Amino acid sequence: MPGFHVVPTNLATAARLHVPEFSPGSVWLAGAGPGDPGLLTLYALHALNTADVVLHDALVSPDILALIATPRRHSVGKRAGGARTHQLRINQSLVSLARAGHRVLRLKGGDPLIFGRGGEEALALAAAGVPFRIVPGISAGIGGTAGAGIPLTHRTLARSVVFATGHDAQGGLPDDLDFASLARTDVVVFYMALRQADLIATRLIAAGRAPDEAIAFVSDATTPRQRVIEATLATAGAVAARLDPHAPTLIVAGPVLALRAMIAPLQQATPMTLEPAPYAVAGGVP
Ligand code: SAH
Repeated sequence: MPGFHVVPTNLATAARLHVPEFSPGSVWLAGAGPGDPGLLTLYALHALNTADVVLHDALVSPDILALIATPRRHSVGKRAGGARTHQLRINQSLVSLARAGHRVLRLKGGDPLIFGRGGEEALALAAAGVPFRIVPGISAGIGGTAGAGIPLTHRTLARSVVFATGHDAQGGLPDDLDFASLARTDVVVFYMALRQADLIATRLIAAGRAPDEAIAFVSDATTPRQRVIEATLATAGAVAARLDPHAPTLIVAGPVLALRAMIAPLQQATPMTLEPAPYAVAGGVP
């Protein structure tokens, strides 16, 4: 493709970096970023190249999965309403695969510690005495909003930002979300909130935000399928009902949305693309 260069995957020689060993019997708990393979960290790319086995979420983008060098990759995806592998079973698999002497890559969309239950996995590994490394990733709230041309903070416009989840373990809006505090924060970014958009907007309005405040739905951010739909708090529910419920989507509210019209049209946001890997995805937890 014109304008694209092959990404060197042999990091040790390409970047002359000394990469810490991904040792057999250890787990790397890594974030894959929001979708664009160009937003992987060098640690994550190194782990993709060296892992013996990869357990990944459904959220990890196909272009990134295509980079995995081992045929031993397994989806343990948990998407809203879809098939899921119980968290306890994932924790147990990580421990037993590491104890069997594998280099285990646990790859999650975005950042592993932001709404990704990476903390629970780290605790399970620590409790089992399995060595592990946490590799941060670019969370959707950071990379996805940037891809959509929305600065999360901006001098004079927004001095605070909050990430919140619209989804508790039962799939409903978490009871203990403090909307008074969210409404006082300049920019609010909701993850896993599409189904609750109407309720979230109603609660934000009740807590003092203006019904005509602009919001944006950012779906499949940083991938070739990225879509940004603007609405207002008053129209949020109706607009959300027309969106693809399966596309990972952020809801962003705040005065910084006014900047998007000036930034997005001239912003270059084409993601890196890759040839698909020759391996088929294996199912289930090993
Ligand atoms: N650990 C991830 C979040 C997992 S929760 C991270 O740090 O990004 C899953 C939610 O993340 C989705 O429901 C959606 O709200 C958001 N998300 C993840 N990838 C996204 C993307 N490419 N575009 C928009 N939202 C995304």
